[in-house]
Amino acid sequence: PSSRREGFSSIPNVKWEDVGGLETLRSVFDRYIVRRIKYPEDYEDPGIKMATGFLLYGPPGCGKTLIAQAVANEAGANFIHIKGPEIMSKYVGESESNIRTLFTRARTCAPCVVFFDEVDAVTTHRGTEGGWVVERLVTQLLVELDKREGVYVIGATNRPEAIDKALIRPGRMEKLLCVTLPNEDERVSILKTLARKMTLDADVDLNAMGRSEGCANFSGADLYALMGEATMACLDERTNEREEAAAKGTDEPRSSFVGMPLTVKA
Ligand code: ATP
Repeated sequence: PSSRREGFSSIPNVKWEDVGGLETLRSVFDRYIVRRIKYPEDYEDPGIKMATGFLLYGPPGCGKTLIAQAVANEAGANFIHIKGPEIMSKYVGESESNIRTLFTRARTCAPCVVFFDEVDAVTTHRGTEGGWVVERLVTQLLVELDKREGVYVIGATNRPEAIDKALIRPGRMEKLLCVTLPNEDERVSILKTLARKMTLDADVDLNAMGRSEGCANFSGADLYALMGEATMACLDERTNEREEAAAKGTDEPRSSFVGMPLTVKA
């Protein structure tokens, strides 16, 4: 489809194995989206309407985007990532038209997962000054949500209280799923996931690290930043060694460092 050529949608390269923790969420999406796209014949006439709209809510950096990408990847579906504020336009009628275009494109490249981040932005101003424009926008979004075929919508928000109730009625983003900060076990699982492609020093204990007080209340994004800091510390060390060798006039060819695995230390 043309939308693919434009690079507007594509199958993401995030897999389940790139996601740490979030097991419950994974099984929900497996049942409601992945299997449905992979084995459509099993779902042809279940005699009941099954959810195709979801709302992930919870603090930032806990894997909402990541899991939505993994869902599309596992299902072999196209993925469209849109942020609420991007849809908003100060010109009358343009925001509604943006929403229409978004869903037309999604239908063109179905099966498709639309990840609608910061979906609260579409609704928060309803009823306040200039609210009539926004109200039409909400109505347009509801119309589009009601006529989806092969299009799964995963909304995300850090402010569930700001979501318009009409958006979470049956047939719309009806399944509400909380994505909380990881607990100890989940932190360990995230660290192991992040370290999968890294070389770790023998005394790095990811179990202890994940369970440590220092990591309490860390989100997945915080753990990612921590691993980044550890990697940077190793690079600093390597630079120091390189410069010391050069200062000593050791006949150390620079190329000896090239291709040397970077080992993250405890
Ligand atoms: P926001 O609400 O700010 O959009 P989010 O919940 O969508 O945040 P992500 O964008 O999915 O969070 O996570 C940010 C980054 O943190 C990811 O790209 C990943 O590197 C890391 N991360 C977060 N959660 C996990 C997880 N469960 N497993 C592995 N990595 C994670």
